[in-house]
Amino acid sequence: MPIDESHEVSRTLKENIIYPAHEERTESAIFRENKKLLVDELDIPCLICGSKEKREVHHIFEWSLFPALDTEKMKSILKIIDFYGYSKQDDTPIESPDDKRNLIVLCETHHREENNGIHAISFPIWISQMAVKDGIDITPETKIIKTKDKKLTNNIKKTKKVSPVSPKIPQN
Ligand SMILES: [Zn+2]
Repeated sequence: MPIDESHEVSRTLKENIIYPAHEERTESAIFRENKKLLVDELDIPCLICGSKEKREVHHIFEWSLFPALDTEKMKSILKIIDFYGYSKQDDTPIESPDDKRNLIVLCETHHREENNGIHAISFPIWISQMAVKDGIDITPETKIIKTKDKKLTNNIKKTKKVSPVSPKIPQN
């Protein structure tokens, strides 16, 4: 029998991760430099919604798992997930998780927010937000932000109305 009405399903995502020993997390000079390049100089919008509000820089491969990762495998995979074209231009070894080939720009909502953020929801749901039809919401607004701060709720509503755009591929 077809399900002919949209319906909300809630589930809890449980994740068990074995982190390798790693240095204390700090913002490196290369990270600051690449964030400045992507956000301030190239003005790249959120990959998901095209918003330029509250932009943050996300590591595709998790920063704290870097000591456990084979950087040659990382490099090959990043050539496929090459949102900004940097992997096509650069075949040098990846020496830091803060390498710009491993970074994407996201708004705060699509980075960390509990119903929309890549750090909070599963990849199939997160990436579907990028291709959602105009006027359709596939994820509800976040309750935490909604109850805590009205101003933030308004920002999210505004953010959600922006049509997804393909980021311009920077030449360098
Ligand atoms: Zn966004």
